[in-house]
Amino acid sequence: MPFKVPLGLCHIQDRIRKWNFTLITTISLPLNPDIDDIYEWVAGDTPSHSFRSSTTWEMLRPKQEEVDWCDVVWFKGAVPKHSFTMWLANYDRLPTRNRLASWGMTVTTDCPFCSREVETSDHLFLRCEYTQDVWSVVFSRCHPPLASFSDWSELLSWIRAAATPELKLLRKLASQATIFHLLKQRNNLIHNHISLSPVSIFYCIDKELRNIISARKGRKHFRYLMSMWLR
Ligand SMILES: [Zn+2]
Repeated sequence: MPFKVPLGLCHIQDRIRKWNFTLITTISLPLNPDIDDIYEWVAGDTPSHSFRSSTTWEMLRPKQEEVDWCDVVWFKGAVPKHSFTMWLANYDRLPTRNRLASWGMTVTTDCPFCSREVETSDHLFLRCEYTQDVWSVVFSRCHPPLASFSDWSELLSWIRAAATPELKLLRKLASQATIFHLLKQRNNLIHNHISLSPVSIFYCIDKELRNIISARKGRKHFRYLMSMWLR
């Protein structure tokens, strides 16, 4: 059955259309019809004849002061899952047992690797005996620090102190892979009861580093990285 609009309503709609059309005809054009019109995209104070998504994103995104560790966490050639884990570890936001307990959860705070210390981020990734065994093999591939790390800032300093950009890149890749695999093994041990030796963890790190470098061997700073890693 067809829908019938009441006559009164049709009359009102016609009047609105006529009123809109009448109004539009009274508005003068902004430019003389003889002049060619152009358009501009304006992001901030910079006009442009073409749209740039990067400029628009820079204008729209929330910004903060650049932190001094950002080049250690985010860099070209990094593996996203490694960078993300490093970023969380850097902020001490990973759910280590000391943090779970501080949130009121009834869990043991013992380190799952050694069971002798409280599981903090620094202990889990830097100071635990198990962890240091993994780091010692990693160091043999990218020049060890003068002493083992006691806190996170020493790890960042060691990465930045590399003598060449290539060595710095290797340290960044190796450190991120080490943090990632230590966390993975920690979770494996707690949730799946799978225990692996530090040598087995290094085997995973080594395999991953070889794959990362091979996949990027055409890039400038990755060209000689494999020989540095395998020496
Ligand atoms: Zn421990």
